[in-house]
Amino acid sequence: MKIQEYQAHEIFRKYGIPSVRGIVCESVAESLEAYRKTGSQRVVIKAQVLSGGRGKAGGVALASDSAQVESLAGKILGMKIKELDVKKILVVPAVEIASEYYLSFVIDRSTKSTVMILSSEGGVDIEQVAVNTPEKINKISIFPFVGIPEFLARKAASMLFTDFAHIRAGANIIRKLYKIMVDLDASLVEINPLVITKEGEVIALDAKVNFDENALYRQPEVAALMEPDPQEQKELEAKSHGFSYIHLDGNIGCMVNGAGLAMTTMDLVNLYGGKAANFLDIGGSSNSGKVVQAVKLLLSDSNVKAVLVNIFGGITRCDDVARGLTEAFNGINTDIPVVVRLTGTNETEGHRILEGSRFHIAGTMRDAINMVIELAGKSTRQ
Ligand code: GDP
Ligand code: MN
Repeated sequence: MKIQEYQAHEIFRKYGIPSVRGIVCESVAESLEAYRKTGSQRVVIKAQVLSGGRGKAGGVALASDSAQVESLAGKILGMKIKELDVKKILVVPAVEIASEYYLSFVIDRSTKSTVMILSSEGGVDIEQVAVNTPEKINKISIFPFVGIPEFLARKAASMLFTDFAHIRAGANIIRKLYKIMVDLDASLVEINPLVITKEGEVIALDAKVNFDENALYRQPEVAALMEPDPQEQKELEAKSHGFSYIHLDGNIGCMVNGAGLAMTTMDLVNLYGGKAANFLDIGGSSNSGKVVQAVKLLLSDSNVKAVLVNIFGGITRCDDVARGLTEAFNGINTDIPVVVRLTGTNETEGHRILEGSRFHIAGTMRDAINMVIELAGKSTRQ
């Protein structure tokens, strides 16, 4: 689970990590008011979206008078960054940067530990640094029963800084950041850039915290911060209907029962040259109402140009699925092509119900997938 930068800054503040206090705004008028309140001549206006690379996308900008605040706030509030609408911006007093660094903690599965990552090449694309100059990235695995004693924090900070005052300030930030990671069950905490200001202070200019969703049950304060984006909202809604649904970028909507068959179906769609629009496991129960919900879910994605229903009837009965499909499509005005492969319990009854209907019936998985890829290619759905 991700949170917005301003929320991450609030957590940083609670733990005593130095940063600059900004004001969250949802309109140009609020931004102008915030600009006055900061009392700073120069401010930075920052898009609050759940995605990185805001700077590169033009979502972070400096303003030095109210006319600039007005025009930049208006521009950024109207932006889309990686498909996400910018609805909030942060107005922060600008800092004079002397140098920029990178600091994070992340769960590293290969070492089965939390790893601290430090680099003197902060502020820019850290992935690029990792590819081009990996020697500029330092990694320290943290032994969980030991954590980060002061000596280790200072050793790590001295990989970034030479001045002892900076090392001491950096070590302090490192230990606090690790405490956030552990206390709040975070999967990532990141400061990029961590900066030394012209005045010689070490502060977090950006703040990012991701959380392990499996631990939300014991982190009610974290769970309360969730602001699901439209995609996540859909996934949560699907969950409430008893589905596992994950949105993908392709054009073939898949409706499958069982996680294993759903993954196999996605793999085969890709193998035969198509692209799945989702992973959707409608689960094991034979309930036609569920099929109706699943069809609505698939059709709510306009990228879906054809639907593949792949059902193996074990507990789920094929005749129930067939009735559910008929009912669902009777109630929805769409001419989207639908390929159905039904096999297993009550297969014959299922096929009888679908005979002569709008559905394309396939006998084998190979036929079904080839059919749906061809139909998706010809589909005129907008
Ligand atoms: P990101 O692109 O989403 O990671 O957003 P950041 O908050 O990291 O900002 C991107 C870049 O904008 C930083 O690396 C800085 O170089 C610059 N920036 C952000 N805040 C300030 C500031 O207060 N003063 C100055 N001079 N630059 C800033
Ligand atoms: Mn950043």
